[in-house]
Amino acid sequence: MILVVGHKNPDSDSICSALVATELLKARGEQAMPIRQGEINRETQHILEVAGAEVPELRTSVAGEKIWLVDYSDLAQAPDDVAESEILGIVDHHRLGDVMTVNPMEAWIWPVGCTNTVLFNMFKIEGHEITPQIAKLMMSAILSDTVGFASPTCTQKDKDAVEELAKIADVCDVDAFIKDLLIAKTNIEGLSAAELVEKDLKGYPFNGRDVVVGQVELATLEQVDGMIDALEADLERRCAEEGLAFAAVMLTDITTAQTRLLYKGEWAEKLVKHEENGMLMMENTLSRKKQGWPWLQAELV
Ligand code: MN
Ligand code: MN
Repeated sequence: MILVVGHKNPDSDSICSALVATELLKARGEQAMPIRQGEINRETQHILEVAGAEVPELRTSVAGEKIWLVDYSDLAQAPDDVAESEILGIVDHHRLGDVMTVNPMEAWIWPVGCTNTVLFNMFKIEGHEITPQIAKLMMSAILSDTVGFASPTCTQKDKDAVEELAKIADVCDVDAFIKDLLIAKTNIEGLSAAELVEKDLKGYPFNGRDVVVGQVELATLEQVDGMIDALEADLERRCAEEGLAFAAVMLTDITTAQTRLLYKGEWAEKLVKHEENGMLMMENTLSRKKQGWPWLQAELV
């Protein structure tokens, strides 16, 4: 049995990739099962409902198992005991991380907007049938990761995949499909400051220290107007409790690509010079991977 596992703090791509890669492995004649390392978010819940797919089993230990990683290749995002597992495959669209393998493995890492775009091409290359359910999962993940094609991470391969998948899934109105997805993505109603920071938090070991950067995608920054103090307090708490050098959260208005950065920690003073009226705004910034983190990395050196 091969366990297919997306990253910690799973986003929609991590969950859909685990489900879709499992189907790919089964089509190859393998026994496989999707698992997840954490709770699913509201957008993912919406996607699974639309596709009629089951939530993967929650499982954070993979010792002694054969596994595939989907949507990451960093130790920081893998199950804590990943070193005791055997990694047989990686499908991803991020920079190559630091996982090590004992035996030769299969790696499909493409510079595209979504892991599901790579998986879509694997299905095509290997000639496996894509069912309407798999098509819905794939196109939803691609539209989520590329924020409806608006992210600078989006490539022609992502657009081509969605065009073909929409036909298979029998989705006639892709714009309406995107709109529903983005409404689910930006629904933060009732979430606490800690839950918002945690929502899509990623660890980035940097210069020998631990750094975390979260991102909250919003329809308008006004959605968090009353929560700034609480969000900053939560970042401060994380720095103190986990010994982080820096903790930040990107508040991103996905309609205008404006991001407000909240940040705390020992290294925070390095960024103060970029503030205006006590706020650090990142213009034209939708993507943490391609814009937010590269900028921060240069500033935090
Ligand atoms: Mn992801
Ligand atoms: Mn992804």
